[in-house]
Amino acid sequence: MKFNELSYIHMKKCLNDPIFNIISQVGELEKTPVFVIGGFVRDALLKRSSKDIDIVALGSGIEIAKKVAKKIGPKVKVSVFKNFGTAMLRHGDYEIEFVGARKESYRQSSRKPIIENGTLEDDQNRRDFTINALAISLNKENYGELIDPFNGVEDIQKKIIRTPLDPDTTFSDDPLRMFRAVRFSSQLHFTIEEKTFTSISNNKDRVKILSGERIIDELNKILLSSKPSIGLKILEKTGLVAEFFPEFQKLKGVETKDGKMHKDNFYHTLEVVDNVRSKSDNLWLLWAALLHDIAKPKTKRYSKEVGWTFHGHEFAGAKMIPSIFKRLKLPLNEKMKYVEKLVLLHLRPIVLSQDIVTDSAVRRLLFDAGDEVDDLMLLCEADITSKNEYTVQKHLSNFKIVREKLIEIEGKDALRNFQPPISGELIIETFGIKPSKTVGDIKNAIKEAILEGEIHNDHKEAYDFMLKKGRELGLNPKR
Ligand code: ATP
Repeated sequence: MKFNELSYIHMKKCLNDPIFNIISQVGELEKTPVFVIGGFVRDALLKRSSKDIDIVALGSGIEIAKKVAKKIGPKVKVSVFKNFGTAMLRHGDYEIEFVGARKESYRQSSRKPIIENGTLEDDQNRRDFTINALAISLNKENYGELIDPFNGVEDIQKKIIRTPLDPDTTFSDDPLRMFRAVRFSSQLHFTIEEKTFTSISNNKDRVKILSGERIIDELNKILLSSKPSIGLKILEKTGLVAEFFPEFQKLKGVETKDGKMHKDNFYHTLEVVDNVRSKSDNLWLLWAALLHDIAKPKTKRYSKEVGWTFHGHEFAGAKMIPSIFKRLKLPLNEKMKYVEKLVLLHLRPIVLSQDIVTDSAVRRLLFDAGDEVDDLMLLCEADITSKNEYTVQKHLSNFKIVREKLIEIEGKDALRNFQPPISGELIIETFGIKPSKTVGDIKNAIKEAILEGEIHNDHKEAYDFMLKKGRELGLNPKR
């Protein structure tokens, strides 16, 4: 069977859910034609499961939603968003949104359109891409018929993202659509059609009317797509990255001196992000991957003796995180702290694995990384992107040793969330001294002894060590 037949069969199957019949009956009773539109239809044809259903009514979407809710049962709640003319209800796993068909016109300064009631055609015209403009009739006379004015089915088949109208109008009207094009390309592995692509480049400065939150929503979806580099590369090629995230743009490019070239940190970063994504769907770990080398351009130096270096880029990078998070409207909470920490520590496991892996170095890593140690190891492994297979294998096998040691040492000394086994109060109490620098020195000496493996992370051993340390400082226990 051909793509179309298979896809239509699947699409029809999706319509088997009784909810569509209910909506159809309500539409019939209210003399209001109703259609399923947008992402649900696209995903049904792509055989992707989708839990969001958009219904467009040639009349009041809110009224249809209320009547549908009544028909389903007395407990079904409708959320009405009067300002937007939409209503939403949940049924089973589905989240169903109802809206009246509309015609939109835009002004230069805002992505908020002037809205009028419209026909189905008007409503399909206002959609962002041909693959998102497909509608299925839920009306008696042609129930299940696909209404595809812009050859969206053909574009799904060819895996193409294209705007229904002139792309310059589509993108200038609502620049968020540029990011949506990139996001769909990354999620669905579709190609952005040439004219549409060129138009994104031409309209890139329209990004300035977008709110940071909306851009980040799309960027997060790109990061969570199965191969984020697809979207990130397009963001760069179209010039969008330079518009909203210049630090990331600066990673791109190579320089050669005396025949020595450093690697392109932009493409390296994309590889690291893809590697992390293949193992994890932790958005903040993906952000750490995206930002791990962000300070390389700032710290880049060249010397005849050693060639290119990026000394301290992990410290400088961690320092850049708060301002980047603030500007990009990312959360300024523990998520940011997590990213900062991973960027700061991202070289530690690799430095460790290049040498003989000593217990004390592993203890220090556990102590510094705390609960983030597993994510840090994952990031660090993902960071090994050398073209030289031998180098990669050597690092990975050393990493295995680091991981084994981590498990072994964790079993002996609980260092992940280190709590000093001896409190400052106990030191004061034992030696009958006042709160002072000496108390801090003793506490620190205990911590160092544990990290060096002189004693275990254990109260009794730490207590004895405290007494010894106290004696060295000329202190004697009271009593
Ligand atoms: P996903 O659920 O993966 O985000 P989706 O296509 O369902 O994909 P929504 O944001 O839920 O995305 O939008 C639903 C539909 O509304 C889209 O399929 C599209 O037809 C339309 N749409 C959404 N945002 C825009 C926009 N900025 N411009 C034009 N049409 C849009």
